[in-house]
Amino acid sequence: MSLDAAAKTGKIAVWWDMKECPVPEGIDAHRVRPSIEGGFKELGYSGPVSITAYGDQKQTPEYLLRALSSTGVAVVHVRSESTCAVMYEHMKNWREENPPPATMMIITNQMLDVFDWDLARLQQQRTGYHICLAYTIRQRAELMVDTRKEWLWEKLLLGTTTSTSAGELSTVFHCEYCSLDCQSLNCFKEHLSTKKHQLQEVVRPKPTELVSATKRWGKNYAATPEYATAKIHVWWDMFCCPIPDGYDARRVRPSLEGAFKELGYSGPVSITAFGDHTQTPKRHLQALSSTGIDVAHATLGVISPRIFEDLVEWRGRNTTPATMMIISDGVEELLAQLQQRIKFNLFWAYSCRPWTMSVVLTSAEWLWDSLLAGVSFSKEQAVEECSLVEELEHVYR
Ligand SMILES: [Zn+2]
Ligand SMILES: [Zn+2]
Repeated sequence: MSLDAAAKTGKIAVWWDMKECPVPEGIDAHRVRPSIEGGFKELGYSGPVSITAYGDQKQTPEYLLRALSSTGVAVVHVRSESTCAVMYEHMKNWREENPPPATMMIITNQMLDVFDWDLARLQQQRTGYHICLAYTIRQRAELMVDTRKEWLWEKLLLGTTTSTSAGELSTVFHCEYCSLDCQSLNCFKEHLSTKKHQLQEVVRPKPTELVSATKRWGKNYAATPEYATAKIHVWWDMFCCPIPDGYDARRVRPSLEGAFKELGYSGPVSITAFGDHTQTPKRHLQALSSTGIDVAHATLGVISPRIFEDLVEWRGRNTTPATMMIISDGVEELLAQLQQRIKFNLFWAYSCRPWTMSVVLTSAEWLWDSLLAGVSFSKEQAVEECSLVEELEHVYR
């Protein structure tokens, strides 16, 4: 069974922001679970669905809480300003406990503004989770997160429903501030009205900003064993990252290979140099071909799509473990989306360092000029040369 097929029978977890995406007036809250299950069934997903509703439950009418709990929707109490941060915390924990294949559904209008960047990076680190989304307001720009399905919340609630087996589900009310679970609505309501709880909301506030899971992830760490001897393919955009004036183009390949070896990568390296080769000096073309670098002709206007097309084609022909290296400033966001489906090890070199951390998850990054200026010999060669110099010094002394 393929990973994609396996996800369709795997677990489905739903995080629902009740304030952002409330049950619209005139729709029975008993429909929430059967509508979500019906939506997934239409897509061919049949795994068990767990739903958690987040909100300031002191504000939620009792009939609504009753309708949710009677249909097996778990309810979490968290103040509105902390809803996204707490939902994300729970998502991260859930991923730790539930390895893929599995499906995550998020019901929110904050995907683009709050979750997108970090979740897209998490998805590149660990592929195999299908992401689905429901919202009441369509986001105004393209998401980085690769979603399998997006619903308009109201349409989903009015769509096909399934008959549910809510009786078998254990319903839990959870207070995020007191880390307290209640089995009955009365117990929960009573808890939220206690002094002890009110104090906890003040002394143990929840974060209001999303706590990033990926911001501190390191780079340029040593190769893991599976990638140490795997092949490396390089796409080089010569418009973004040209051969510097006075630089001997024969040094490009050894510079790259030297940098790879420093990190413990010793697999075979193939390189394609994309550029307007009617403009490339003949001595450069000769230097490239004499060092086994392929050239592909592309003019400035089409170079990014050309590279992208070529790497999509390459990804279709190759399987991981393998490393892809991009030398370009232009394709990383598109690549970040592909990497969420099938993950290759990724290197990146750019002409100037991005001013914020990019959404693409790499294991190594370099500034193009320093990469070329840096290690052009492996460390062993450097040691050999030193000892050669010492020997010569002996001879001449
Ligand atoms: Zn909790
Ligand atoms: Zn409490």
